[in-house]
Parts: sequence; structure tokens; C-alpha cells
Amino acid sequence: MAPKGPAACWKYFSVCLDDDSRTECSLCKKTVSRDTKKASYSTSPLNKHLKLNHPEEAKILEKDPPAPKPSALTNSEDSAYLERLFELSSTVGSYRFSLDAEQRLCKMIAVDMQPYSIVSSPGFQRFVNVLQPRYDIPSRNNVTQTDMPYLLEAVTKRVREKSEVNDLKDQVKEQGDILKVQSETIKHQQAYMEGLDRRERGKNVIMFGVLEDAEKSDETRVGELIALLNEDTIPITTIKRLGVQAPDKRRPTLITLPSMKIRDKIVNAARTSADSAMDDVKVKKDMHPSVRKEWHRLLQVKENEEKKAENVGREIAVDCKKRQVTCDGQVIDA
Ligand SMILES: [Zn+2]
Repeated sequence: MAPKGPAACWKYFSVCLDDDSRTECSLCKKTVSRDTKKASYSTSPLNKHLKLNHPEEAKILEKDPPAPKPSALTNSEDSAYLERLFELSSTVGSYRFSLDAEQRLCKMIAVDMQPYSIVSSPGFQRFVNVLQPRYDIPSRNNVTQTDMPYLLEAVTKRVREKSEVNDLKDQVKEQGDILKVQSETIKHQQAYMEGLDRRERGKNVIMFGVLEDAEKSDETRVGELIALLNEDTIPITTIKRLGVQAPDKRRPTLITLPSMKIRDKIVNAARTSADSAMDDVKVKKDMHPSVRKEWHRLLQVKENEEKKAENVGREIAVDCKKRQVTCDGQVIDA
């Protein structure tokens, strides 16, 4: 028995690519089903369609059936499907198809360390022929003279691009390092300025609520209050009212004391004093306004953290020198 070739009717039908149970008649463009189950696909509906709609062509087919194709595939319908696929790929993008395939072939040779002669070996050729009978395997010359150099160039280009990206990354990192050093420098300078400022203000207190009238001089009043807060006499270096004078207004008084130690003593004594002369008077350390503002903010953060349910039993602390709030030793605001 002669090998079974594709049924003659396939001359006029092609399998629909989106649904291989259906075929398209090239004469009238109608679709014709070849059954719903793959196992029972049949060409009878196709022949019936031809006889009913295109009797002329049906007669020609009966007289002159096409010769069987030398395809390795014996299933005529799958073969027809592949034919159709290849037709499409060659009309839509044959260049891309063959280029992709050739590059893959070269990659295989390189990655698997195969000899170039594999392209002319009969076994490999038969294998490719089964997959796609119409694919032209490139010649060995083609592989060595064109495809491989092309692949090498493509790979080299990619390696070069990657190294350029790495160079860029290095540059960005370098810039980042410079910025880090600069910001550290600025931090140090700021700390130094703040240190100077603290040293200058370290001996100062500001007294709020000290009466301001013609009855007594500021020196006398401040002297009396300081005497209340400290048993030993303290020589006050300077006394200065801050702000603009106005009637019925008690301007803050800036007082410079002999040392930071004495200042702390005075501030603490004022906090605990029960003397009625101190009722309206408040004594505070002299701080830079921005420092005072930051301390206030940190204390506010501490207060809010302590209100949170998840922080019950945890120790929230403010370190005013480091300017940070900690929760059980972990910094949560800085
Ligand atoms: Zn038709």
C-alpha cells in the first residue's frame, strides 16, 4: 500500500489558527467544521462543502488527486496545519523567524560546545526536518562566516552596555559618598556652632515676671530674688532687659552669672522655691530659640508615644543632647 498523502481537498482548505477544529475554504472564505473532537476530525465535511458549493473544483479533484508530499509527518491534517503556520510565519515575519532560529542554533553550538559540522550532520538535519520540513538549515560556512560573528558582536555589545551601567552605578555611589562626607561636615560645623552658643549662654538665665517700674532698679530687684534662691552672695556679671519697653509690661531679664554651676543651682532653686516673692517669677536657662523649639518637639513626640496602646510598659525617653526619642533604647525619632 502506498503511503497515505494529504487528502486532496486540502488544496482548497486551511486550518483556522485560532481553532484547529475549523477550516477555511479558500474559494468562498466560509469556515467549515471538521468535527468537534480531535479524534474524529474528518475531511468528509470538507468534501461535502466542495461538492455542494463548488462542484467544478470537486470534479477536478476527483480526476487529478495531488501526489503525496515527501513530508516526515504522516498525519495529513497536522501537516496541513503546519503548512498554514509556516505560510503565515513566512509572510508575516519570515526574516525574524529564520534569524531567531539561526541565532538559537549558534547559541546551541556555543553553549553545548558542539562542532560547527553539526549543521551538516544527517541526524541533526533529519531532526530539524521533522520539526519544520521547510526550514533551511544554514550551511557550515554560513554559521562560521556570518552567524557566529553576528552573535559575538551582539553578545559583546550587551557586555559593554552592562559594564557601562556598572560604571554609572559606581559614579552614583561616588556622588553619594561625597554627599555623605559633606553632610557629616555640615553636622560637625553645626555642632561646633551650637557648642560655642551653649558656652556663651551657659552662664545665663532668663527671669520672667520681674517687676519693672521706677521704684527699684533691675539690679536691686534681681539681686533680691537671687539672694532668695542662694544662701551665698552671688556677684552678678550683667543684667539686661530683653525686648521693647512698654507700660504695664514685665520684660524678660537676661542675667549672666559667674558660672554654669551657679546657673544650674539657681534654676533648680527657682523650680522648688515656695517663697511668695517667686510666685510670678519664672527662671529658665538661656537657650537658642531653635534648640528650645526642637526640645519642645521631642517632648511632644515622647508624650504622643506614651499615649499609644502598644507602648504600655515601654520606656520612652528623650535625649536632648543627641536630639532623639528612644523606646526601650531603640531610636524612634531623631
Ligand atoms: Zn467554499
